[in-house]
Amino acid sequence: MRKLYVFDTTLRDGEQSLGITLNVKEKLEIGRQLVKLGVDIIEAGFPASSPGDMESVQTIAKELKGVIICGLTRAVAPDIDLCAQALRKAEYPRIHTGIGVSPVHMEKKLKLNPDQVVEQAVAAVRYAKKYVSDVEFYAEDAFRSDPIFLARVIENVITAGATVVNIPDTVGYANPWEYGELIASVLKNVKNIDKAIVSVHCHNDLGMATANSLAGIKAGASQVEGTINGIGERAGNTSLEEVIMSIYTRRDGYGVKSNINTREISATSRLVSRITGVTVPDHKAIVGANAFNHASGIHQDGVLKDRETYEIIQPETIGVPQNLISLTARSGRHALKHCLEELGYKVEGDQLDDVYQRFLQLADLKKEVFDQDLYVLMGDSGSIANSIVLESMSIATNGVEMATATVTLEIEGTMMTDAACGNGPVNALFNTIDRITGNNATLEDYTLKSVTRSSEALGEATVKLRYEDGRLVVGKGFSTDIIEASAKAYINALDKKDLRTSQAKVV
Ligand SMILES: [Zn+2]
Repeated sequence: MRKLYVFDTTLRDGEQSLGITLNVKEKLEIGRQLVKLGVDIIEAGFPASSPGDMESVQTIAKELKGVIICGLTRAVAPDIDLCAQALRKAEYPRIHTGIGVSPVHMEKKLKLNPDQVVEQAVAAVRYAKKYVSDVEFYAEDAFRSDPIFLARVIENVITAGATVVNIPDTVGYANPWEYGELIASVLKNVKNIDKAIVSVHCHNDLGMATANSLAGIKAGASQVEGTINGIGERAGNTSLEEVIMSIYTRRDGYGVKSNINTREISATSRLVSRITGVTVPDHKAIVGANAFNHASGIHQDGVLKDRETYEIIQPETIGVPQNLISLTARSGRHALKHCLEELGYKVEGDQLDDVYQRFLQLADLKKEVFDQDLYVLMGDSGSIANSIVLESMSIATNGVEMATATVTLEIEGTMMTDAACGNGPVNALFNTIDRITGNNATLEDYTLKSVTRSSEALGEATVKLRYEDGRLVVGKGFSTDIIEASAKAYINALDKKDLRTSQAKVV
């Protein structure tokens, strides 16, 4: 079996397009989970785009070992210099450089003729090779290029030292059979192609990113690029979990094998969703909440008789736990620890005590505590330092029109209380918090959903705040009281604003 290299670009192509700014700590948390998942390459950012991105790539390169850390550049020396600098501490650094090769990119965007494009591509690869041995070249908009010209570019960059050649469908225009043919033609017509790995990179504008990537793999590509949950520019990137589970479930058809630990898929998907604030649709393939639910009576009956009747993937394979113990306020520490271990959390000592206390508070409010509640409990234990704490709040409403909120916050050890009116309880609450903290960011989005399906379910609030410098910061809060969940989410977003984050992107 051929090895399939898995290249994750959640932190670059995924983040770049969301309009959401992840801070270094959040990116590192996602990076650590990607290492557990077993990806071969992490594209950590585009260092020349902003000082924040530079810092993120630097930190990830320093902290994450046993994985290739990659940075993106345009085919220009200053970008490559910065990228090399960001990757200096990486155990296995890779520079990903490239240029547009389709007629529209060359004429309209770059204003270069084909010979100049080849020259610039070769120069960029040679320049990157001065810093690192592992250089990946991307032929931007390759799918809409002239295949003969594309082969010429690829042959030249491999001669210049490129170790991986990426043939993207940048605009998501390809049909699966056409994309497969393009990869086959690169493998057939580029004379020195045996000296490089061919990579597929697809976008989902027509809903075909996964299908196109698989067609490319079937045709002989040995690296696939994509993001967790398929997040990314416009309609998104290739969803890595879909590709991984396709080649796993239908291994007879592809003849490739990856290093991925499929049991980490579910945890990775949840983490990326929590940190980016991008929710996974219930019906999403592989990681959606309903992906393994059998609702129709005929299907349920079949699955109960034999799972294979309607089930092609066992939920355990992607790490969806099959927890049979139900937790209540009477459950002990040991039962909680066991259930958390089933979900992949190792907690001991003080941390267990802390989680257990919060578990008891929750169990007092809910009859039963489900897996989803435990995820929240663990997520809530805070990857972000709490410099603002909600001490108390009360709301007085006069019908549905107006409300008054009184809030006490502890900000870095000092208690501060204020009150304000608003158009409904949540608005009054946010206005009061603004008064106390002096916040002037605007609320761009606010959503509420229930985490589990019972009447005393935990509520999850998500708040997105837009700062004057253009940054969009996501905050989350959980509580059995939805007003309190909303306050916590708002405070969480305010708490993150001072953490060093990327500035507006250049490209
Ligand atoms: Zn892309």
